[in-house]
Amino acid sequence: MQLTVVNFISVKQINLKCFSASFVFKSMSIKELAIGLIEGRITKSAWVRAVRAWPGSDFYEIDLEAPDADFSAFKGTAHMKCRVAPLIFRDYTICRWDAASKTCTLMIDAGHQGPGSNWAKQVQKAGSLPYVGIEAHRCPVAAYPDLFFFGDQSALGHFLALQQLAGADKQIGGAIFMPDHAHQDHFRQHYPALPLTPVYTKDNLFQRLTLLKSSGQALVCLAGNSRLVADLRRSLRKAGFAGQIHAQGFW
Ligand SMILES: Cc1cc2nc3c(=O)[nH]c(=O)nc-3n(C[C@H](O)[C@H](O)[C@H](O)COP(=O)(O)OP(=O)(O)OC[C@H]3O[C@@H](n4cnc5c(N)ncnc54)[C@H](O)[C@@H]3O)c2cc1C
Repeated sequence: MQLTVVNFISVKQINLKCFSASFVFKSMSIKELAIGLIEGRITKSAWVRAVRAWPGSDFYEIDLEAPDADFSAFKGTAHMKCRVAPLIFRDYTICRWDAASKTCTLMIDAGHQGPGSNWAKQVQKAGSLPYVGIEAHRCPVAAYPDLFFFGDQSALGHFLALQQLAGADKQIGGAIFMPDHAHQDHFRQHYPALPLTPVYTKDNLFQRLTLLKSSGQALVCLAGNSRLVADLRRSLRKAGFAGQIHAQGFW
């Protein structure tokens, strides 16, 4: 009798499991299943260790542990290609990293509408973060004693990465377009070691840039919105700057 009851329960449980499995299967389209399979093959997982939202409009710092990543060979800036929605990927610069613990930080400007921005707003501590890989870019910061960084806030992580790559003995200056007052306060308070002047308008950014004097000792790094970067480069040359410029347009 006892056995019959147990058998009855387990048959019911098995039926329930089959029902829920077929329900899940039916509620996913063939396309969704195919996308899931493809993504599962091409992505790796990092683990979210912390998320810090800046006060004011949307800007996030995301600390990750990436067991499959090798940060030890970084010679230039690198970005992580993150899966932000089904078959949609966006690049985010690795702004601080530690090769031994395989940890790093991303900084994401999410004050606009877009798949990357929408995704960044809902990244949670302890969740997994799928990414396709890490790609590197060469930037010869180590070869120059004086470095100047100019760009918008989406490039803050890029400038922090350049500072880490350059080493401690460099003279750094420049400006960053940061229109949110609360962000400027937060930046001054939490990043005193990155000596960039936050400015409220793009005009201020151009004014500061054109004050630069030409010098073979200096490298100017421009990053952020692609049109802004192209305009900054043009203004710098127009103002007579003949030194080295490294430019990277993001979006
Ligand atoms: C090598 C590389 C490194 C990058 N590193 C970073 C990084 O460290 N941090 C970071 O935030 N982004 C970085 N980006 C940009 C990032 O990959 C996305 O392009 C960006 O987040 C926009 O994606 P989205 O899906 O939110 O918006 P999209 O769908 O691409 O764009 C939607 C709209 O929003 C506008 N838009 C996009 N970004 C911004 C913005 N920041 N401010 C205002 N309007 C915007 C677009 O012009 C468009 O009109 C990097 C890009 C590259 C190529």
